[in-house]
Amino acid sequence: MPHLFSIFLHLLFFKLVAPVTFRHHRYDELVRMLYKVHNECPYITRVYSIGRSVKGRHLYVLEFSDYPGTHEPLEPEVKYVGNMHGNEVLGRELLLQLSEFLCEEFRNGNQRIVRLVEGTRIHIMPSMNPDGYEVAAAQGPDTFGYLVGRNNANGVDLNRNFPDLNTYIYYNEKNGGPNHHLPLPDNWKSQSSENRTLCLFVFIPSLEPFSEHMLFDVSGAAVEPETKAVIQWIRSFNFVLSANLHGGAVVANYPYDKSFEHRVRGFRRTANTPTPDDKLFQKLAKVYSYAHGWMHQGWNCGDYFPDGITNGASWYSLSKGMQDFNYLHTNCFEITLELSCDKFPRQEELQREWLGNREALIQFLEQVHQGIKGMVLDENYNNVANAVISVSGINHDVTSGDHGDYFRLLLPGTYTVTATAPGFDPETLIVTVGPGEPKLVNFQLKRSILQATPKRKAPNSGHRNKVLPKKVQPQAAGKKELKMKQSQRGPA
Ligand SMILES: [Zn+2]
Repeated sequence: MPHLFSIFLHLLFFKLVAPVTFRHHRYDELVRMLYKVHNECPYITRVYSIGRSVKGRHLYVLEFSDYPGTHEPLEPEVKYVGNMHGNEVLGRELLLQLSEFLCEEFRNGNQRIVRLVEGTRIHIMPSMNPDGYEVAAAQGPDTFGYLVGRNNANGVDLNRNFPDLNTYIYYNEKNGGPNHHLPLPDNWKSQSSENRTLCLFVFIPSLEPFSEHMLFDVSGAAVEPETKAVIQWIRSFNFVLSANLHGGAVVANYPYDKSFEHRVRGFRRTANTPTPDDKLFQKLAKVYSYAHGWMHQGWNCGDYFPDGITNGASWYSLSKGMQDFNYLHTNCFEITLELSCDKFPRQEELQREWLGNREALIQFLEQVHQGIKGMVLDENYNNVANAVISVSGINHDVTSGDHGDYFRLLLPGTYTVTATAPGFDPETLIVTVGPGEPKLVNFQLKRSILQATPKRKAPNSGHRNKVLPKKVQPQAAGKKELKMKQSQRGPA
């Protein structure tokens, strides 16, 4: 009898307790959840805010790393962004589940998760649009307003609010010009604005005259605070890989989102607009769709996508999206995951969704460990930041970060890789990449004897031919990081 009683208690416990975590979390509950995970795993997590929404809600990020708050050279940075459309809520809940899962499994000694956390710096932002979410959540799942809560509190669709760099890259692809790190366009007029830029500029690397100005889009309207915060965020960390979680379909969508041919929805799947990294992006998308419970089957929500993946533009053309901006303005390769037919699934669906997505969310993070990575150093073993890493045959370069380390996602194969930096001779290496761990490929650049010659253009190195400081002082980097930490700390 006591045995039966304990079984009864056990069942009761699970009935009452276990499903409780599978529920929707309003803003206050979300914040509590993030701090709960942080308190459970204080040594491998950090909560920080990248800024505030229109209504003043924080855009919180939970970071997982064996050294939270620090970039460790050669350890790649990866991010997940959820709930950019406030009414597409599954990603938000999945990212909370993922946070709890990473913490628990790390504590349980799950070797796969321990390895992941120790070798990767993971940034999880469950909600990029907390204001929109509150509007959608006030209605709940049984909503007739399909778009209620999609936009931010100013009524702006955040996934149409980033600078359009596609126009420039399509021009450059034809006519020559930078193939990466495109600057913010001229029509993003900058105007001085003192009070609103305070939180802006502290942790921005000084690449472009962005930091001291307020951003305006072509219409003259101020760029939304959520967008602005994310732009600063992705400029201040050297992210390598990212996914942006949405709903309303079930498919892994990869860049470009904006069609080269300017077609609109209605002319469906006619204007595939691949990036120079198309094969890699297809693989990244497939990793997610095949590790997902049903995405890869292709038939979902009354639509069909072979392998559960699609080029964004071939589905429908989207301008000023976040995904393309990541690829064209930074080193980050981002895909967009559409995760549920219902944008606001019922609470009872959440457990099934988590089980369908869990393996995919982990495998996608693991994808940051492929291709090549390494240090770019000078003859005296000083770090060379902003060196350009070019792979012949792929017209999209990446750059080394502040610590001189670079990451270049590549599929298995043999590549000719060149590192260039102003004032140095280029160095070229032939590299064979296998399917497993990324290959370590270091460059040691020699000072060019021609460095005094002005306007010497490094091959394939785009517009960033600014003269680097002769030595990248570790102290300077340290100061910058300290500033970053101070500015990212959320309020108590
Ligand atoms: Zn969306």
